Amino acid sequence: MYYAPPIARLLEELERLPGIGPKSAQRIAYHVLRADDESISRLAETLLEVKRVIHFCPRCFDFAEGQLCETCADPERDASILCVVEEPRDVVAIERTGEFHGLYHVLGGVISPSDGIGPEQLRIRELLGRITDGSVVEVVVATNTTVEGETTALYLARMLKPLGIRVTRIASGLPVGGDLEYADEVTLGRALEARREI
Ligand SMILES: [Zn+2]
Repeated sequence: MYYAPPIARLLEELERLPGIGPKSAQRIAYHVLRADDESISRLAETLLEVKRVIHFCPRCFDFAEGQLCETCADPERDASILCVVEEPRDVVAIERTGEFHGLYHVLGGVISPSDGIGPEQLRIRELLGRITDGSVVEVVVATNTTVEGETTALYLARMLKPLGIRVTRIASGLPVGGDLEYADEVTLGRALEARREI
């Protein structure tokens, strides 16, 4: 036993966090132990508050604080074009480019038979529900450029094109197999601009 039990428990919790290995966990734990009570209370409060007040936007499934997320609630956004992404973090990546002025739809993942994830596990039914009122003209599929991302894009094209929707895919220039969130704003902005029909 190297650590007092409360410290061992803290390390165990920290190591559950994404990207935190034993070394980082130890660094954070020692920071917590040295920091003043007030700053640690603030951190704990902030963690609890974000869980309390943030929920999924019932329209696009991005994170939201109000009834709808800020994008869905913004009357200036172009409701005739939807950008379909895998996760809320991809909305952030696309917003950073400043190139997209439509609305989003967050699938909550990608089709991945090897992980047992089919279309019914994603928010595809909800996407189709948003399209039936006829206001959407184009759907830009901005899933990652992985095999699963491409499979999902083709699946969506097969579903949406018969409904008379223009389905486009963000252009190449993004590294194959890459995650949107790691692309720089310029590359991602160009990929959006040069989207092609699928
Ligand atoms: Zn929304």
